[in-house]
Amino acid sequence: MNPELREQASRYVELLRRHGQKDTWLPSGLVRRLPSASSPTQESPSSRPSPLSTPRITGTPPAEPKTRPIATPAAPATGTKTERLAALRAQTITCQICPHLAKSRTQVVFGVGDPEARLMFVGEAPGADEDEQGEPFVGLSGKLLSKMLTAMELTREQIYIANVLKCRPDMPAKTSGNRKPTRHEMEACLPYLRAQISIIAPVVIVALGSTAVEGLFGPQKTTISRLRGTWMEIDGVPVRPTFHPSYLLHNQNLALKRQVWEDLLAAMERLGLPISKKQQGYFLPPPA
Ligand code: URA
Repeated sequence: MNPELREQASRYVELLRRHGQKDTWLPSGLVRRLPSASSPTQESPSSRPSPLSTPRITGTPPAEPKTRPIATPAAPATGTKTERLAALRAQTITCQICPHLAKSRTQVVFGVGDPEARLMFVGEAPGADEDEQGEPFVGLSGKLLSKMLTAMELTREQIYIANVLKCRPDMPAKTSGNRKPTRHEMEACLPYLRAQISIIAPVVIVALGSTAVEGLFGPQKTTISRLRGTWMEIDGVPVRPTFHPSYLLHNQNLALKRQVWEDLLAAMERLGLPISKKQQGYFLPPPA
């Protein structure tokens, strides 16, 4: 083999290893092209994947593989919602579909709350606090989410909270902060979220932030500012997009708070929850 090609091939193999891929020879049944969001689950023999194509060997291997296995959660269709969620959780917490995330995570952050919840919140991905504690929205954004719930006269125990991505997006060594999940990561993880939605069958979902919307519905042609205030739908469940709590934390602006609050009021209305006069007036500018 040409020595330069050999060198490039071995760099590629090394990269795969670093991302947790022990053997570059994948069984042909293990991977397939990502399906559209509407066909995420069971794999039939006729839909068998084509094997991974031979990697393009260039100077730098692509950071994101073109093919990737997807989650095929087979949560039991019978049992109580608690039992079905527990079975799904057991599958999710050992997920290895994104080897780099399986390697970097402290734990999978599955979701928390009442399996019978009528209201579900969907966020983006666990941050450092969530990765450490194994629960979504326990950091600063989570504290703000809890305050929003208090304003709705609800508690965390009465609702269900989950993220599009169940693992914390990995960060380069010695860096802090968070990164947005990639399209591939979100597509790989979405079947777990859809399985959660199908078990819980909430009456309303509130999608927190543009990434949550993108994770649920794919890339959007418009901004979260335009999507909020409207209804979307996934698997028959109405979804109210709104701003992410961390956006509110960075933009202490009354008008923005009011917009989020109006989205929450719309969710309450859809749930048939009582709305007091006082609640109706939250975050309105003081009368001149
Ligand atoms: N932000 C999210 O979107 N999810 C969390 O769990 C925490 C912060």
